[in-house]
Amino acid sequence: MSMLLSQKRGAPSTPAVEASPKATEGGRQSPRAVLPGEVDRSVPCNADPNDPVSRARAAAAAVVDPEIPVLTIEDLGVLRNVSIGEDGVVEVAITPTYSGCPAMNMIAVEVALALEKAGFPGARVKTVLSPAWTTDWMSEAGRRKLAEYGIAPPKPKAGRQALFGVEEVACPRCGSADTERVAEFGSTACKALWRCRTCREPFDYFKCL
Ligand SMILES: [Zn+2]
Repeated sequence: MSMLLSQKRGAPSTPAVEASPKATEGGRQSPRAVLPGEVDRSVPCNADPNDPVSRARAAAAAVVDPEIPVLTIEDLGVLRNVSIGEDGVVEVAITPTYSGCPAMNMIAVEVALALEKAGFPGARVKTVLSPAWTTDWMSEAGRRKLAEYGIAPPKPKAGRQALFGVEEVACPRCGSADTERVAEFGSTACKALWRCRTCREPFDYFKCL
């Protein structure tokens, strides 16, 4: 779990790896190897280094969901607000995707840890329940990453359809709409287990709320 947090900040100095000196300035493009356990993600380097709120937000935004490690809490729309209190301590507001979602406690801890690593110790992470989280808060990037991960992303505004039991969920593997729900709860309470009748593969569906 802790490795999910390991984010390479855009630190200019990379010690140790100075085997070949300057020679390669514009010559060969050697993409920096992604080390095992390192999450290769091109995240918020748009943080303004001179703006503490911006830096704090970038640090918090890069925290991943413990259940769906390809998604950051920003992708999910779980990260609601980052500010700095009058006492100089960072305050973060998060909204759980699902009431009683046990992952939320973990997310709060990881946010505090990420902020501490980024130089903001003792951050206060509070859970905001209202307005309630909706799948509409997920970013486009989040939906795409979810599908690539093999979980059918929630459709925007699916709540009403779900109410009438006419949910249609496309298989994230083959795209077939010929799917059926196997169980209300999948591997976690936030997901339902579905199966594709075309390719016969089971998959998790991120529950629409
Ligand atoms: Zn399929």
